[in-house]
Amino acid sequence: MGIEFTPEAKERKISSPPIMRFAPSPNGYLHLGHALSACLNQDMAARLGGRFLLRIEDIDRTRWRPDYEQSIEEDLRWLGLDWERPVRRQSEHMAIYRQALDQLKSQDLLYPCFCTRGEILRCLGADAVRDPDGSPVYPGLCRHLPTDKAWQRADREPHQLRLNLQVAIKNVAAPLFWSEMGQDGGVEIIETQPHAWGDVVLGRKDIGTSYHMAVVVDDALQGVTHVIRGRDLFFATSIHRLLQNLLALPAPIYHHHRLIHDDEGQKLSKSAGAQSLRELRLKGWSAQDVRRLIGLDT
Ligand code: GLU
Repeated sequence: MGIEFTPEAKERKISSPPIMRFAPSPNGYLHLGHALSACLNQDMAARLGGRFLLRIEDIDRTRWRPDYEQSIEEDLRWLGLDWERPVRRQSEHMAIYRQALDQLKSQDLLYPCFCTRGEILRCLGADAVRDPDGSPVYPGLCRHLPTDKAWQRADREPHQLRLNLQVAIKNVAAPLFWSEMGQDGGVEIIETQPHAWGDVVLGRKDIGTSYHMAVVVDDALQGVTHVIRGRDLFFATSIHRLLQNLLALPAPIYHHHRLIHDDEGQKLSKSAGAQSLRELRLKGWSAQDVRRLIGLDT
């Protein structure tokens, strides 16, 4: 059985007003790159007469902090944004991601993987092929375990759930594409490149699901029609389109916007300590100052 849409999501699918979302992870304070994403989403929702949602992607509880989460809403209000309530928090919906994983498992598209990071690196050596996120492409060690025994072992031992990419690609019809909207509103058709990811992890050992799994399920359940996010997630869209196809979920239109770089030309990131919106807010900056700095207003 497929993922069941709530009556509300079904209703949204039928009436189809454009729906955009900003989906930050509360594992650091928001920075200027997030401001660009959030504002582009809200601006487009306003332009298309659409709806704007905020989704808190808080499945990774190890990096979550209450002040990060609280600051998200404060920063966005300060930027002049407004969104629908209730806000969806992914940590409250773990069962539905599990259901999507079960659906893939029932199609023999998942296998449990018991390898540690160290074992994978030892097997690959120094010149391992890297996926678009920079992680070594998994060499498929556990893909070759006898299926029944592997699942029995999974009942007892911690494991990841990996997508059997070759089988998944075989199961979908022909190559897959997505519609990429440019800054001028023109649409380009992009062919997916899922091979670059190898047997990607869909169920993490520590939290049971993964970013890819949760984002695809939620975009569908919330009826998101336009995904506007940074170019750093451009390559992830190949996996998202594959999962949408395997789970029979609708495909949104995508726009991967430019990234904001720091003075040294590096992409802003929470982990590298990029200056936060919170700091700018507390220093007395205005939303107008931010919009000008990120090139939205002159
Ligand atoms: N939660 C992701 C992040 O903060 C963004 C997910 C998305 O927009 O698809 O990077």
